[in-house]
Amino acid sequence: MHQYDVLVVGGGFGGAFAARRLEHLFKGRGERVLLVAEENFFLFSPLLPEAASGTLEPRHAVIPLREFLPRTTVLTGEVTSLDVAGRRAKAVDLNGHSHEIAFRALILSPGSRPTTRSIPGLAEHAVGFKTLADAIWLRNHVLRQLEAADATDDLELRRQLLSFTFIGGGYSGVEALAELESLTRDAMKRAYPKLRPSDMRWVLVEAADSLLPGLDVRLSRYAERALRKKGIELHLSTQVSSCEGGRVTLSDATVAAYASGTIVWTAGQRPNELARESGLEVDDRGRVPVDPYLRVAGVADTFAIGDGAAVPDPAGTGRPCPPTAQHALRQGIVAANNVAAALGVGDATPFRYRNRGLAVTLGRNQGVAQVKRLTFTGPLAWFMGRSYHLLMMPGLARKSRVVSDWTISLFFPRDVSQLGGLGRPTPLPPPEG
Ligand SMILES: Cc1cc2nc3c(=O)[nH]c(=O)nc-3n(C[C@H](O)[C@H](O)[C@H](O)COP(=O)(O)OP(=O)(O)OC[C@H]3O[C@@H](n4cnc5c(N)ncnc54)[C@H](O)[C@@H]3O)c2cc1C
Repeated sequence: MHQYDVLVVGGGFGGAFAARRLEHLFKGRGERVLLVAEENFFLFSPLLPEAASGTLEPRHAVIPLREFLPRTTVLTGEVTSLDVAGRRAKAVDLNGHSHEIAFRALILSPGSRPTTRSIPGLAEHAVGFKTLADAIWLRNHVLRQLEAADATDDLELRRQLLSFTFIGGGYSGVEALAELESLTRDAMKRAYPKLRPSDMRWVLVEAADSLLPGLDVRLSRYAERALRKKGIELHLSTQVSSCEGGRVTLSDATVAAYASGTIVWTAGQRPNELARESGLEVDDRGRVPVDPYLRVAGVADTFAIGDGAAVPDPAGTGRPCPPTAQHALRQGIVAANNVAAALGVGDATPFRYRNRGLAVTLGRNQGVAQVKRLTFTGPLAWFMGRSYHLLMMPGLARKSRVVSDWTISLFFPRDVSQLGGLGRPTPLPPPEG
């Protein structure tokens, strides 16, 4: 049994910033903090669409946890069970070995997972867009589709290879589609003279009647117009009813079913199941309700934050805070303050952060942004979004890498090498003789 003062579950925006703050609060003292996360890095998800389009080196969209948290014990693995009242947890490491952990206080920030609906063919033919592996795979896949389309004179096959369907018009779906569309357009112009932009079909399907929920309606409409101007087909108030055999059928009967070589699902997230499976009370959406101090009711020194928690919104909306990085990060800091206070260091503080704004990129030099009631569009909004993400990015070294990638992408075209073989070593041939 390993004994810790604080167990932090999750190394994303909530967990990583909570542990970082604890390092500061416990500096020069003896408290021991353990952070368990499935990867040894923290994914800076706002930059994921740019990592997918190759504007950014994927490695520059992550922060190594051991570098970010030099005084925290980091265990790469999975917390498989939690006994919150008994202050015990079990985690399994990359060797498959089980670790028994005892703790005095707990910060839960295991985030959310993609959730799907029962649409025929979806599980077989669609991919998600949530992890760094998803972004790298999607980039290589899109470039592979260009190569395959270039190699064939069969126009029907070419059209299928160059049909890209995104299901879900939220922030990640819109940004990923816009970035990848820019990538293919640039690549075609420069490297595939046989292919024409009109050979491509980019389709965005959204069940609601507008894109980008939560954004000022003028900005949603602007985003819709900007995407349509690029030739992207938008189907609002529409659902995908089948993806069987890679053929997409929409609920809108006026759109004929079509074969799509790429289908990306970004239409739903649900909180990680760990809290519910551990017997904690969850709301109808699976989030752990907490009070303004981020405390879970009925269990001492237990805090829940991030996408998996229902935190009362200090903006007075009467709803929980939206699931964003900017909220999770600040909740991490407040949870750390309150854990430290519970262990006798400093005072507890309530979560007071109000949403400052939102920014969405719509491909190269295009975007929309909202700061309180002010709205911005076009290159200025794109620049504001980038600047904000850069400010949020921790560490000068990481910031510099991102700025250097952005600067290079201003002056030089994107790399179109298709590295789909990465991560799969070439098997050795059988022995000779
Ligand atoms: C493509 C994309 C783009 C986004 N863009 C933006 C944006 O521009 N602006 C913005 O504000 N928000 C954005 N978000 C939302 C933002 O990423 C989330 O709101 C934020 O990451 C939530 O933080 P979290 O700590 O709750 O979860 P996460 O950051 O998802 O971290 C969860 C952590 O828990 C770990 N974990 C899960 N289960 C276990 C377990 N059983 N044991 C151990 N560890 C576990 C995971 O490995 C991970 O480290 C985006 C999200 C995506 C997917």
